[in-house]
Amino acid sequence: MNTRDSQRRWLRPIGRYMAQGVAAMSMSVAVASVAVAKPVPVVASFSILGDMVSVVGGDAVEVNTLIGPNADAHSFEPRPGDVRKLADAKLLVVNGLQFEPWLAGLVQSAGYNGKQIEATKGVQPLDNHDHVDDHTDDHDHDHDHDHDHDHDHDHDHSHGHEHHQHGPQDPHAWQSLTNAVMYVENIRDALSEVAPESAPVFQENAARYIEQLQRLDAQAKERLAAIPVERRKAMVSHDALAYLGKAYNIEFVPLLGMSSQAEPSAREVADLVQRARAEHITAIFLENAVSPALAKQLARETGARMGGTLYTDALAEPGHEADTYLGMMQSNLRTVEAALQP
Ligand SMILES: [Zn+2]
Repeated sequence: MNTRDSQRRWLRPIGRYMAQGVAAMSMSVAVASVAVAKPVPVVASFSILGDMVSVVGGDAVEVNTLIGPNADAHSFEPRPGDVRKLADAKLLVVNGLQFEPWLAGLVQSAGYNGKQIEATKGVQPLDNHDHVDDHTDDHDHDHDHDHDHDHDHDHDHSHGHEHHQHGPQDPHAWQSLTNAVMYVENIRDALSEVAPESAPVFQENAARYIEQLQRLDAQAKERLAAIPVERRKAMVSHDALAYLGKAYNIEFVPLLGMSSQAEPSAREVADLVQRARAEHITAIFLENAVSPALAKQLARETGARMGGTLYTDALAEPGHEADTYLGMMQSNLRTVEAALQP
């Protein structure tokens, strides 16, 4: 890559490759449309997977996403419309790692017996609190036991942010670009199985996409390496960024128990303020689909920087730079770099 360009801005090199990708993709699609009369109906569980499927599938697939942009995956409950979407599908793509606890019920209601894949197949999962253990620290452990929601579903946070019915493993594996490459390979293989006549198109689209993901990863590693070690600690509202943190050696301390609706008590806020100070938090990030009120209050009371919005479990609405997975990761990485810089 042209180093001069990549050093200056995050957006330019990717933007250029994206443009090439789109041009090349329309060519592939033109070829594919000769062979494929009707796009294959595919259902993806949430917006990030939906985008990956449409990049790999191009015009040879028609993607229906159950949990849309900026939607809260935590509170999702399938509706009759979702049952109908699934009834016609040839392929169902889900994340796995228990990110979709409602899946079995939906599949049953829809009477779906088509192909189903977990995009995380082959991914090395992190335990829910791996990232905390990597940075052994007394405050973490006292606190984390209160939030061990993955093992105890009866916890009684009055304002509990009921973050997915987690299993023992962290499902947010898409926050690592290395894992995303595996997602794309799994999607490519599954699409090729349900629509073998378009397999060459899926191969080509996936290869180009993987190259873009790897390019962004290399760029991020290079840029984030410049952040001083003592500044590599940030707070986020929910525990969704462990994979990103592991990839670039940044600790994201989650404010588990933070509500998207209710106000925390004064005592709980005081505890969080104390914790943010004790842990020398550099920046506090907002997340799309989560209320900003507590994060703003914490920043005010601790002097940590408000780091901007990170896209965690959902893409942004169309028209925003984070309306694709690649754009979302680019936006997140740029936001993190800017916030942690001295
Ligand atoms: Zn989540």
